Amino acid sequence: MKKDVVIIGAGPAGIFTAIEMLKKGSKKKILLVEKGQSVEKRHCPKDKTKKCVSCKPYCHITTGFSGAGAFSDGKLSLCYEVGGDLPMLIGAELAQETINYADSIYLEFGADEHIEGIGNSEEVKKIRIKAIQAGLKLVDCPIRHMGTEKAQEIYLAIEKYLLENGVEILFGSECTDLILEDGECKGVILRDSKTGEESVVYAQNTVVATGRRGADWLEKICAEYNIAHQPGTVDIGVRVEVRNEIMEKVNEVLYESKLIGYPAPFKNKVRTFCQNPGGFVSQENYDNNLAVVNGHSYKEIKSNNTNLSILCSHNFSYPFNQPIAYAQKVGELTNMLATGNILVQRFGDILDGKRTWEKELAQSNVRPTLPDAVAGDITAAMPYRAMTNIINFIKAMDHVVEGFASYETLLYSPELKFYSNRVKMDENFNTNVKGLHCLGDSSGWTRGLMMASVMGVLMGRKLV
Ligand SMILES: Cc1cc2nc3c(=O)[nH]c(=O)nc-3n(C[C@H](O)[C@H](O)[C@H](O)COP(=O)(O)OP(=O)(O)OC[C@H]3O[C@@H](n4cnc5c(N)ncnc54)[C@H](O)[C@@H]3O)c2cc1C
Repeated sequence: MKKDVVIIGAGPAGIFTAIEMLKKGSKKKILLVEKGQSVEKRHCPKDKTKKCVSCKPYCHITTGFSGAGAFSDGKLSLCYEVGGDLPMLIGAELAQETINYADSIYLEFGADEHIEGIGNSEEVKKIRIKAIQAGLKLVDCPIRHMGTEKAQEIYLAIEKYLLENGVEILFGSECTDLILEDGECKGVILRDSKTGEESVVYAQNTVVATGRRGADWLEKICAEYNIAHQPGTVDIGVRVEVRNEIMEKVNEVLYESKLIGYPAPFKNKVRTFCQNPGGFVSQENYDNNLAVVNGHSYKEIKSNNTNLSILCSHNFSYPFNQPIAYAQKVGELTNMLATGNILVQRFGDILDGKRTWEKELAQSNVRPTLPDAVAGDITAAMPYRAMTNIINFIKAMDHVVEGFASYETLLYSPELKFYSNRVKMDENFNTNVKGLHCLGDSSGWTRGLMMASVMGVLMGRKLV
């Protein structure tokens, strides 16, 4: 097969590359390769089974058209300070301009007009004062909330648009290797997930946008073909769940409180991430059977709880430089203690130095929205530095959100974010291998739907 552009991964980064090429009138032959299924065929069996059944060959939550975005909470962060380090590569101004542009595309495909987290300036001031007193920085970030169910509709409309406008999409097809000749990327090798049959696609430009799930694979490819890259950071943390009443003010005023701190004694960066008012804690299973915790919220169905993650960034230099492997070990150890599941523990039990028992969860106001999480002791698997950072950050948060550090506050683990292996590129997303470009979360430059979409838009403009 011969194409002009082959895009590996139909997550936001990959699909916005194709959208922008079409919008700019490109007549090039575009092939989008996705190892999962089309949006309409993606179903998480947990809706029926109420329990994660570790789908094989892949998890429907993170794999398929629209990538990790389809079942995500669909929160589009509309500020360049949120969603990854792409602004460092392309400049803050272009990042913000392209966010506004990509947002208009989401609106065109049906996203809600309403934006959370703007206005209320007097209330925001009060929250900021408390944050300053607690030694935390409050980042203002307007949010467009698609909601899990609406996000699927929007991405379905995008899928139809791409197909109707001549983009070829190969579902159930996994890219296993790149074709490199004379230091140039000439295409890719694909394997059909059902038959195992291999095929070769030649293309002038290859765009790899394989998301967090594809970060391990891309790291191996980078090492094998000397694609310039550097170890990035890895985030290790917990998902915290409290009653909505506790977070009411912050939810109302900001929808999502983005707080950053550098708690003593380590002074590492610790931040809140992905806040879901009335949301649900969820489990994702990676290909290597690693179960990690996440969270999302629906537009219509609401729980009594708010969840958010608290993440600590970890860097490594010498002699150890494998952040993904490090975080995986932490995850595996936690999973082992929870017999393959997610562990949950009350904050008060952590401070008291005891595990949480199943029956004790029932004594609290807050009830876990992840029913198959196993009550236990996350401190038995969490590295000391990360645990200390989290405990001290939660105590600081209590000044901003009274009751956040309550005895009954639930901590789920492992919450891991693999952004590692940052591919070195110029501002046009050229790697040191001609014809090869790396986008989105797997490139190490983005960490969210909007920033991944922005990277796609800019790539699309270069490839027209
Ligand atoms: C539960 C959950 C909730 C989230 N909520 C939010 C949120 O509210 N707001 C936000 O901004 N972000 C959220 N995120 C993160 C967001 O979804 C990602 O940052 C974003 O999807 C990254 O886009 P991407 O295109 O880089 O990669 P992805 O969306 O991960 O897409 C990559 C695609 O590549 C495919 N792929 C991987 N390897 C191969 C291969 N070898 N061959 C072929 N195909 C391959 C995968 O199947 C996948 O479909 C959430 C993530 C999860 C899991």
